[in-house]
Amino acid sequence: MRRMNLERQTLLRVVVIGGGIGGAELLRNAATKEGLELVLIEPKDRIECQALYPDYLGGEIGIEEMTAPLEPFCRKMDVVHVRDRALKADFADKRVTCEKNDIDYDVLVLAPGAVQNYFGVEGAEKAFAINTLEDTVKARRFVEKTRPKKIAIIGSGPTGIETACFLADNTSCKIFVVEMMDRLLPTLSRNASILMEKILAGKGVEVLTNKRVESIQDGSVTFADGTALDCDMTIWTAGIGPAPLIESLDLPKKNGWLLADQYLRVEGRKDVFAIGDSAWIEIDGKLATKTGMEAEIQAKHTARNLARVAKGDALKPYSIRASTDSPVALISTGCGCAVGIYGDLCVPIPKRIIYTFKSWIDKSFVKRFK
Ligand SMILES: Cc1cc2nc3c(=O)[nH]c(=O)nc-3n(C[C@H](O)[C@H](O)[C@H](O)COP(=O)(O)OP(=O)(O)OC[C@H]3O[C@@H](n4cnc5c(N)ncnc54)[C@H](O)[C@@H]3O)c2cc1C
Repeated sequence: MRRMNLERQTLLRVVVIGGGIGGAELLRNAATKEGLELVLIEPKDRIECQALYPDYLGGEIGIEEMTAPLEPFCRKMDVVHVRDRALKADFADKRVTCEKNDIDYDVLVLAPGAVQNYFGVEGAEKAFAINTLEDTVKARRFVEKTRPKKIAIIGSGPTGIETACFLADNTSCKIFVVEMMDRLLPTLSRNASILMEKILAGKGVEVLTNKRVESIQDGSVTFADGTALDCDMTIWTAGIGPAPLIESLDLPKKNGWLLADQYLRVEGRKDVFAIGDSAWIEIDGKLATKTGMEAEIQAKHTARNLARVAKGDALKPYSIRASTDSPVALISTGCGCAVGIYGDLCVPIPKRIIYTFKSWIDKSFVKRFK
């Protein structure tokens, strides 16, 4: 293990774990503030926009459009990029232990995101996933090489729906969407479910609701009711869980996620912040959604609060924008269209303008790091 020889400056050293949407956006904003020395711990060499993975899987965009290289971005922002994976942290000594380095901090920001959750379903880990760039590239290669005839998509959240739409439009496969609840998009309004069912039916996608997956084998999916579905490819999109690093940290958690206070600091710790998917953020009775949109706003807010810490000023509390009680979603439905959902409201037909807006948001996120 090497002690990273970063020359100590008289600045507040902020170490950020995770250079995804939250971490990268925080660094971009913090770089314009005075009094901060910024260090990023991130094993990957690219910032990725996961929202564009379904578009990539459907063959509509390339890797360059949904990722940005980290090195030039960090150089431009005067951020030290430690290409390493954080394993644990010592909060008394204020030190992060990585696979190859130990790094000291004054303030730590935890933004390691989430990982796919397989809920202990037998064989699920062998299914394809689109939670990381690597997984998504693997899935696209499989579609292009083997041209599967039947694809089962497990989970009917926005990711499952977008994946079904892009694959239905760009391949000749028969697509099945499998959902254990009694309707599609169970975390969004009933109106959204009805609309999406119509859109999928129009594309020939078959929806199987009330189907709890019991196990996944090569060539089939078995359900808890004893029935099975034959398929040549299974894509698992059903749910996320905390990143392994979070499990190893001795910090307050809720349902496995880092418990944040109203300033987005980990409960009870003045020098550790948690943002993005890894955090459980519940303020004034509202629970923050685990979305890129929320991660970005939390990142901007935290960058401003870090500048306040450097100056010795009081922190400002955070106000949740996208909460689980009135979620905002823009869901691509293929063919250059998307639907917009806000709480109980949803645009009744997919519109090009909504897709153009969603695509502009996602692509401009990537462009701002180039
Ligand atoms: C397929 C898909 C589609 C999506 N579509 C949308 C959408 O349309 N709109 C929307 O708002 N949201 C969408 N989301 C959700 C959105 O991508 C996430 O909410 C967002 O990326 C969370 O940001 P984050 O910074 O918390 O985590 P991430 O962006 O996942 O970044 C986490 C980073 O931490 C790094 N990391 C993990 N562990 C360690 C460690 N131990 N040491 C160092 N680094 C580590 C990872 O390598 C990664 O780079 C989608 C997600 C997926 C998977």
